[in-house]
Amino acid sequence: MARLRQSLIVHYHEISLKRGNRPLFLRHLLRNLERATSDLGPVSVHQLPGRILLDLEGNEQGDAVAVRVSRVCGVASAALASRVPSSVDAMKGAVAALVEGRRFASFRISARRAFKTYPMTSVELNRELGAFVVARTGARVDLTNPELEIHVEVLPAETFVYAGRVSGPGGLPVGTAGTVAALLSGGIDSPVAAWRMMKRGCRVIFVHFHSVPYLPATSQAKARALVERLTEWQYRSQLFLVPLGEIQREVVLSVPPPLRGFVYRRMMVRITEAIGRQSGALALTTGESLGQVASQTLTNIARVNEAATLPILRPLIGMDKLEITAEAQRLGTFEISIEPDADCCTLFVPKHPSTRVSEDEIRAAESPLDLPRLIAMGVDGTRLEVFEFPPALAGRHM
Ligand code: ATP
Ligand code: MG
Repeated sequence: MARLRQSLIVHYHEISLKRGNRPLFLRHLLRNLERATSDLGPVSVHQLPGRILLDLEGNEQGDAVAVRVSRVCGVASAALASRVPSSVDAMKGAVAALVEGRRFASFRISARRAFKTYPMTSVELNRELGAFVVARTGARVDLTNPELEIHVEVLPAETFVYAGRVSGPGGLPVGTAGTVAALLSGGIDSPVAAWRMMKRGCRVIFVHFHSVPYLPATSQAKARALVERLTEWQYRSQLFLVPLGEIQREVVLSVPPPLRGFVYRRMMVRITEAIGRQSGALALTTGESLGQVASQTLTNIARVNEAATLPILRPLIGMDKLEITAEAQRLGTFEISIEPDADCCTLFVPKHPSTRVSEDEIRAAESPLDLPRLIAMGVDGTRLEVFEFPPALAGRHM
């Protein structure tokens, strides 16, 4: 029997719903697949009708490639497949290789024709290949709950045969939706929010505020670790580390304690906008979830919005803490987020901030402040760090 060519077959979902823009989305997806697997040996990426093929000829790391691909936004699923000519004999050869050495009592064949002019229908293929497996293994056909499902995807020139597949994140390829600036604390929520924006196709730049030297630098280390992790989904990230301490020192001179937290938050928004605009960001994003804490009531969210001119997107607004935590665990950010740190929002503020502050109150509190100068102070003191994934490419700019 001829040696079977290994490949990874990638399916997408939402992109297939796009009409005019589909080629653009696919171009991004292909590029991201290449980038995500660039350190894992030879992989050549090809667009086929309705799916993408990663040719793994000469590649010994197929499983690792599959894991990487399962993290590429836009991918619905991926499967390591044998690739054979579209003749029934060749399909049987691939099916025989697939069942060899496997133990299963029941199975089904799920054939699918990507073009309808193939001389056999999918039902006929299911029957023919099913009978072949029964004769070879003695297993029975079970259409509803099979132990093994064998997928056969028939394209004009070649057919792909595979069993298991891994799910991808779905959504849209990073880079197709524009740039957003994420306010990244060291907490559980904001990394999840940033990831959700990536999954909608955004490129995310990260902005973290710290109060060094008034508080320890632990929050910066967490922000770095979080960005490093999240870069696995977007391949290159910028992290802007902004010193808030001096600004906070000025704020406390004139702003009464219950309002300080708001003024900090509004300063963060203004500075993030200034940084974000320089990178072409079209919106900001935060990890706020309605009512989760006192600072996230509708009234208080409105006060934060009034300081912004760009839209503030809050992808977690309708999620509860358990849902957010579960997602953080899936992403691997949870373990980083729960490390203790020194949150800049706690500097010079009372334990119980107001839950309702009017626009007039906050305006009055801010009126003694020279906002443009404070914003410039934050922007000027910012340090930029760049992260790359895969890390082997560090230092090379794409
Ligand atoms: P998180 O878990 O994301 O820290 P949280 O539940 O602690 O959120 P808050 O402290 O009210 O909520 O912060 C709300 C949002 O404000 C955060 O999700 C984040 O987007 C932003 N934020 C808070 N602190 C910082 C910071 N030090 N640097 C950048 N953004 C911040
Ligand atoms: Mg927090």
